[in-house]
Amino acid sequence: MTSRPSVLIVDDEPANVRVLAEALQGAYELRFATGGERALALVAQHAIDLILLDVVMPGLDGFALLRRLKAELVTREIPVIFVTARDEVGEEERGFDAGAVDYITKPISPPIVRARVRTHLELKRQRDLLEQRALIDGLTGIANRRRFDEEWARRAARAFEQGRALRLLLIDIDHFKDYNDYYGHGPGDECLRRVAAALQEAGQAAGDLTARYGGEEFAVILDDAPRGDLAAYAQKLLAAVRNLALPQVRADATTWLSISIGAVERVPGSRDGRDILESADRLLYEAKRGGRNRCVLADTDTTAVRVLLGEEFI
Ligand SMILES: [Mg+2]
Repeated sequence: MTSRPSVLIVDDEPANVRVLAEALQGAYELRFATGGERALALVAQHAIDLILLDVVMPGLDGFALLRRLKAELVTREIPVIFVTARDEVGEEERGFDAGAVDYITKPISPPIVRARVRTHLELKRQRDLLEQRALIDGLTGIANRRRFDEEWARRAARAFEQGRALRLLLIDIDHFKDYNDYYGHGPGDECLRRVAAALQEAGQAAGDLTARYGGEEFAVILDDAPRGDLAAYAQKLLAAVRNLALPQVRADATTWLSISIGAVERVPGSRDGRDILESADRLLYEAKRGGRNRCVLADTDTTAVRVLLGEEFI
């Protein structure tokens, strides 16, 4: 929600639109429609935070419009307040059943309109906030596994339908258990936070998603837009973590804390993109077994697997 919430007023009678608009003037960004079809077009074009909806309209009426809004993922969460005439009292129950959050009766009382709109915008703001928090990892502040799973399902399905490649990197901090055991949980948590931030910063392009995948495991989905190759990107991640200059605990490991990566670029073989997840996981395991501080990568359209070493090996 922007600084000024956006309210859409839908009523086939311009006089009613005017009364509602005057009641809400100043505090909101207002948009108007005198028909259901026009309202749908506006909702598709603009981010609308709340809708005041007349029930009785020619053509697409209030109920039909509400059904359409509830059927779409992007519009189903917009709170809708029905505006009904006093002789349509029976409609109110139907309205709540259909998913309206409240109703206002005509003739319109401006203080009541303002109070109801304020209340429902505030409820929506709190709901959005809770939802956002539920998608963020509490320790590192980046996207959590739930967010990753949702995003993956969406992008894999789209890439599968369009026959486009998806790029995924699964990342694991090397010898993290030793780090945690040696320094303790406080520094261990701090290490996770710093690695998460470094990975996130390295993947700053719009549309990239960096998520905490498990304990010391992270995942990056790269945007679908064309960009530098996956190998260069993996090198960037290896360097970003190495440049944190966090000490390794084990004498047989690199000087600085390192990561291992399994990276895949491929058109998904199914809508759920499971094959890509499994490949990345297998390649990550190979990177670990091969000596860590490296990325094992499977390129688009080739069966070849490449190994990229972190800089301390070069
Ligand atoms: Mg009407």
